[in-house]
Formats: sequence, C-alpha cells, structure tokens
Amino acid sequence: MPLYDVIVLGLGGMGSAAAYHLARRGRRVVGFDRFPAAHDQGSSHGRSRIIREAYWEHPSYVPLVWRAYDLWEDLERASGKLLLLTTTGILIGAPDTPLVQGALESARVHHLAYEFLEAAAIRRKFPVFAPADGMVGVLEPRAGVLFPEECILAHLEQAARAGAELHYEEPVLAWSAAPHAVEVQTPRGHYEAGALVITAGPWAPQVLEEVGLPLAVERQVVGWFRPVDLQAAFDPGSCPVYVWHVDGRFFYGFPRLGDEGVKIAEHKTGHPTTADTVRREIMPEEIAELRRDFIGRYMPAASGPLLASTTCMYTMTPDGHFIIDFHPQHQNVVLACGFSGHGFKFAPVVGEILADLALLGRTEHDISLFALDRFARG
Ligand SMILES: Cc1cc2nc3c(=O)[nH]c(=O)nc-3n(C[C@H](O)[C@H](O)[C@H](O)COP(=O)(O)OP(=O)(O)OC[C@H]3O[C@@H](n4cnc5c(N)ncnc54)[C@H](O)[C@@H]3O)c2cc1C
Repeated sequence: MPLYDVIVLGLGGMGSAAAYHLARRGRRVVGFDRFPAAHDQGSSHGRSRIIREAYWEHPSYVPLVWRAYDLWEDLERASGKLLLLTTTGILIGAPDTPLVQGALESARVHHLAYEFLEAAAIRRKFPVFAPADGMVGVLEPRAGVLFPEECILAHLEQAARAGAELHYEEPVLAWSAAPHAVEVQTPRGHYEAGALVITAGPWAPQVLEEVGLPLAVERQVVGWFRPVDLQAAFDPGSCPVYVWHVDGRFFYGFPRLGDEGVKIAEHKTGHPTTADTVRREIMPEEIAELRRDFIGRYMPAASGPLLASTTCMYTMTPDGHFIIDFHPQHQNVVLACGFSGHGFKFAPVVGEILADLALLGRTEHDISLFALDRFARG
C-alpha cells in the first residue's frame, strides 16, 4: 500500500491548485517542485495575469472561467488575501479580427454582458488608449487582474493546511508507472503513490519526453513603463485590462498597479527555447520594438522610462488549446500542460479537473477541447 494517494510533479500555477484540490478532498498528497514556492523561473511570475470572460479563443472556455471565478473567490475567502482585482477589460481591434469576432461569439453563445464601442467612444471613455478610426472595442465587466505569486502561495498554503506534504527545491529526476502504483525519484528519496499528476509547465517536454508531445517552449518579454501623461487615467478604477489585435499581432497590458508602472507586452510567437536554457537577458531592441510597434502608436501616454522587465515562457500547442488528459499509456498518470500563454486564469478549475481525473478517472467539466488524441486525429 503506497504511503500517498497522489504525487503532484510541479507546484507552479496548475500544480499548486491540483495539490490544494486533492488535499481538500482528504487525500494523502505529496508535491514536488525543483524551485522554492512561487518562483520566477517558469511561466507563472511577473505580478499580474489577466482574467477575462468573453473568451475569444473558443466559447468552450467560458464555463471553465465561470468556475474559476467561483474558485478564486473561495480561495480568497480561505486565505484572507486579495487575489483578483476586478477592473473591467477591453479587447480592441478591427471589427473583423479574430479577437473581436471571437469575443462576440463567446458573448453570444453564453449570453455575456458586454459593451461594443467605436474608436471615438474608446478614446473618450479611456483616454490612455488611442485606437485608429475604424477600430472597435468589446468591453467586458468581469475582467480583471490576478496576482499570480499570491495565488500560488495561497493554493500551496491552503494545500499544506489540508495536509499536503510539499517539497520545494527537490526536483523529480525520474518517474514510472505500473497499473496500481506510480513512483518518483528525487535527489532525496523515492516516493510511491496510487496516481501521478504532471504539471511541469515549460519542463513538460523533458518530463514527458517519451510521449513526444507537440509542445513548443517560447521565450516572452514583458516591460513596465512609467506613464508620461494622464497619470490618474492609468489607475485600476479608470483603466481596464486590455488586449489589442493590430496588424496581425496581439499586445496586452494592465492598469498601473501600485508604483510598479504600466505592464505591457506582446503575446507573440517567441524565440524557441527550453526551460533550462532560456535567455533571461533582455536586449534593448526588444523593448524598442514594443515601444515602436505598439506603445508609441496606441498608448503614447505610457511611453515613459522602462521601470522593469522580465522574461517568461509559454508552452505552446499547435492549436493554442491546452492539454489536459491521461497519459496515453498510464490511466493513473494525468497530464496538464501546453497552456499556450493563456492558462493562469483557469488554474483553480484545472486543479479541480486534475483532482477529478486522478481520483475518479473522469470529470464533469467539458475538457474535450484539451484531449491529447486531437493531434493524432490531425
Ligand atoms: C509573460 C506571460 C504572460 C501571461 N499572461 C497571462 C494572462 O494574462 N492570463 C492568463 O490566464 N495566462 C497568462 N499566461 C499564461 C500562464 O501564466 C501559464 O499558462 C500558466 O502560468 C502555466 O502554469 P504551469 O503550472 O503550467 O507552469 P508553471 O507555473 O511554470 O509550473 C510548472 C512547475 O513545474 C516545476 N517543475 C518542472 N519540472 C519539474 C521537476 N522535474 N521536478 C519538480 N518540479 C518541476 C517548475 O519548477 C514549475 O514550478 C502568461 C504567461 C506568460 C509567460
């Protein structure tokens, strides 16, 4: 009889949530991370993440984000911490862009509240934005900012409170599975359990090497800029979170949060990399490009000095949708990876789904979009 019911490999955005949901169900959980809690080496750091509801990527995400909103609220209550700041959110682009069309489609399918704004109305309502005539905006009331490091710490603290044993700075070196047991090996020991949940983020290609997942790890750069004008209009009470689709490219950002400046980045096809070799140094050209192609044209009031910058990694799938499924050879090994640069908002519902799959072998949530065999189906 193994000592644990479930092992969680990787305690970042998704793994911290999985550990929490498993432990809350009274299961014996042990979790491992190669770094300290809420570190800045993977995909879940950088002080802010957007949560939004009119999901342009696919209407199937909307029920999941509804559940995530409820679970973030539960976690706020349990932890006594502010995790989600509702600011409203706006998606801006030409009327025929996938961003605008996709958001309208999700709003239609799920009867979501939203406001449709022409360029002049956007400029009037939000003077920090300078959309060109002809652009439009979909303004949604429930969007806001998640504080990722606080979210992860809250999940981990509450998981530990519910009895999870969490090991930091203890990398899993190898794992194996037989029909009724799984094992992992770390530099400190050997652990057995009934099931394994793998939430290794940008390390998934290595940890799951034998599956040959179609994942591409990409380097991303974000910057924090001091506004030069309209200071108060950047505050969260006045400025929404925003995503722009211009010239076939996506840019996004946040209001000014505290004294950290305005965080702006491009959601792009980043340089291919691996989690162990990613270049952390940021070149001046990378910031100059962001200023030239986006900030200067569409948010000139944010074009002050660069206050900070960081790199982060996306783990992309070919279609941009997540992978949440059983391991193809082992029913007691569950995978969640390939969050393709938009997963964080869903972390608590992903944790719930992973707990369902590991303990019950099924989930009530519709995760058909995330099935692994879609790649084999072509
Ligand atoms: C710049 C940037 C901006 C983003 N913006 C948004 C946004 O606005 N909204 C949104 O919803 N999403 C956003 N995302 C995406 C989101 O942050 C990610 O999808 C999500 O955080 C991925 O979580 P994860 O658990 O898969 O990865 P991680 O949080 O990186 O967790 C993986 C963990 O596994 C551990 N690990 C790996 N291998 C091992 C091993 N062998 N042994 C032990 N531990 C191991 C790692 O140390 C790490 O802690 C953004 C991502 C980036 C990079």
